[in-house]
Amino acid sequence: MKHIEITFRFADNRYVFASADRKIWFAHPNREKVAARFIRLVAELARKGTSCRIEAYAPLGPALELLRDVGAICRVGLQNPPSLKPVKWQMPGMPVPEPPPPVFRSWADYLARTSERERMARCYAAAKTANKKRLLSDAPTTRLTAQDVWAVIEAARGRCAHCGSLAVESRPSSPTGAPMPWAQVGRRIGSLEHVRWRYGGGANDLSNVTWACLWCNTWQSERRPQVVDHGGYYPQD
Ligand SMILES: [Zn+2]
Repeated sequence: MKHIEITFRFADNRYVFASADRKIWFAHPNREKVAARFIRLVAELARKGTSCRIEAYAPLGPALELLRDVGAICRVGLQNPPSLKPVKWQMPGMPVPEPPPPVFRSWADYLARTSERERMARCYAAAKTANKKRLLSDAPTTRLTAQDVWAVIEAARGRCAHCGSLAVESRPSSPTGAPMPWAQVGRRIGSLEHVRWRYGGGANDLSNVTWACLWCNTWQSERRPQVVDHGGYYPQD
């Protein structure tokens, strides 16, 4: 049987459960909300043959018994949680550097300065991600194609469905290809969003996908129209 180690802690005024690699991560100020999510996750993982070992650095409250009921091995009352990989400043409310100027001035500029081949390569990558098996959901039966993804972007003219920012840039990466922090331009990075979460039963087809900036896609609480933080950019065309 597979095991996953998950820590539970209270940090920056939120309760957080996270695996060391951050593939599992959830944070919220309300402990009951976090606990409910945590129990669902552990139960779902158990159903799929993965058991959880939980190290609790904050009190779990009534959730402790429920977590044990669904098969988790819990160590409680621990001190000094191990540090998590820092992604902190890609969270709302953290200070970010000034954004660089937009890479593309407009939708037309994006079309003019990228080749169809480049755009399709990107759509192919987005489709591939959407078609992948997830930790908590099997590979979807309906598969999206690069053409499907392009249809979504084109219909949106590259705009985020939530804030409306032109979101056609890619995530910044260093010259070695390593990913770099992106919060300062989060509203300009395009991403394919499942309107209803895959884990929540959302389908992997055109009726359930939309184009969103990575900031809105990552943080539901940040979905506000026409805001200029995190690089939000609203050209006319
Ligand atoms: Zn957005």
